[in-house]
Amino acid sequence: MMFKNELKFADTLDKADEINEYRNLFLFPEHNGEKMIYFTGNSLGLQPKSTKSYIQQELDDWAKYGVEGHFLAKNPWMPYHENLTLQMSKIVGALPSETVMMNQLTVNLHLLMVSFYRPTKQRYKIICEAKAFPSDQYALQSQIKFHNYDLTDALIEVEPRSGEYAIREEDILAAIEKHKNELSLVMIGGVNYFTGQVFDIKKITAASHAAGAIAGFDLAHAAGNIDLKLHEWNVDFAAWCSYKYLNSGPGSVAGAFIHQKHHTNTNLPMFAGWWGNNKETRFLMNKQFDPIKTAERWQLSNAPVLSMAACMASLQIFDKVGMDALIKKSKQLTAYLEFIINDINSRKNNCLKIITPTENRGCQISIVADGYGKPLYNALIENGVIPDWREPNVIRCAPVPLYNNYTDIYNFGKILEKLL
Ligand SMILES: *Cc1c(COP(=O)(O)O)cnc(C)c1O
Repeated sequence: MMFKNELKFADTLDKADEINEYRNLFLFPEHNGEKMIYFTGNSLGLQPKSTKSYIQQELDDWAKYGVEGHFLAKNPWMPYHENLTLQMSKIVGALPSETVMMNQLTVNLHLLMVSFYRPTKQRYKIICEAKAFPSDQYALQSQIKFHNYDLTDALIEVEPRSGEYAIREEDILAAIEKHKNELSLVMIGGVNYFTGQVFDIKKITAASHAAGAIAGFDLAHAAGNIDLKLHEWNVDFAAWCSYKYLNSGPGSVAGAFIHQKHHTNTNLPMFAGWWGNNKETRFLMNKQFDPIKTAERWQLSNAPVLSMAACMASLQIFDKVGMDALIKKSKQLTAYLEFIINDINSRKNNCLKIITPTENRGCQISIVADGYGKPLYNALIENGVIPDWREPNVIRCAPVPLYNNYTDIYNFGKILEKLL
C-alpha cells in the first residue's frame, strides 16, 4: 500500500480497520484532557475497562464467602488458573496441557531451567543473545554458577556484528554448530526487547535439537505480539509475562510452556510444590509427591486469584479478536510508523535511525535519534506521547494493534517532526 503522511489518510485507514473498535475497550492515560499516544504496550499494556469488574467479582466473593470462595465463588478459586489456560494456549500456539499461568516471568525461567538446564562435564554451555534483558542475563549467570561452572566458559553470547544492531541468524546457527559438543541449552528471547528483532524460533529450535541441546525461549515481548506455534515448532520450554502485550496489569501472573513430550518424563529434576500434585490427592497431604502429567506439574503455589482476574479480563478480549486479526493489523500499523519516520527523515537530514529489522519484527520500532537523546524523549512525554527510553540512546515505540490506531501514528509524526 502507498502510505501518505496526512491526517485524512490515517483516518481513512482507521475507518477501514476491522478491529478499530477494540480501542474503546481500554483506558488511556490523558494529557490536557486528551488520550495520550500510548506506544508503551511493550512495557505495560493498557488497562481494559472490564478489568475492574473481574477483580471486583473476586473481592465480592471473598467478602461474601471467606475461605469458602475456593469452592463457592462464581469462579471457584481452587481451579481458578484453569480459566486462563485455553485462551492463553491459543495465543502462544500450544496445547492447553502445555500451558500454565503461574508465578512471574523470571521465577518461571528459573523453575524451568531447574528441569531443562542439566549441565554435565561434557555438556554445560548455554547460548543466548548478547544484551539479553538484564533479568535473563542474571538468571542464566546464576544458574551456571549454581551448577559450579565457569561463566566465561559456559555462557556464549551471540553478538551483532560490528556496526550492526540486529543479530544475524546465521551467527546464532554457527554458534550452535561450533559449540555443539558442549552445548546444553539455547535460551533466546523470541523478540529482543531492545531492538525489537524477532528470532526464528522454529529454526533455532531445530538447530538446537540437532546439536543435542534443549531450546527454551523468553517470550516476554513475543506473547500477544507475534505469531507463535510453540507446540508445532517443538520448543522445549518457554516463559512470558502477562503485563506487556497481554495487558494484565503491573507484575501480573506469568505464563509457562512445557512441551507435551516432557510431561511424563519422571527423570526430570524439578522444584515441586503442592499445586503441582495430582488434584485428586492434593488434599490428602501425602508425603509422596504425585506430579500432574501436564504443564501444571511445574506449579508450586495456589493461584494468585486477583492478578489472574485481571489476566482473565484481558484474555477474553484476545479471544474475541484473535491473533490472526491482530497480526494482520500489526503489520500494516507498524509499516505506517516506519513510513512516517522515513518521511520525517527525508526533511531532517536522516537524523532518526531505525535499528529494528524490517523483515523480522513485531509491532515495536526502536529508534536511535542521533544528537537528541533523552531530552527528545522527555519532550515527547510533555507533548502527549508515551514512548519508552532505553539507555544509552534508544527510543522504543510500539504501536499495539489492539488499541493504537493510524491517527495515533500520524499525530506522533507531527509532534516528533516539530520537536526535531
Ligand atoms: C519484561 C521482561 C522481564 C521482566 O521479568 P519479570 O520477572 O516479569 O520482572 C524479563 N525478561 C524479559 C526478556 C523481559 O522483556
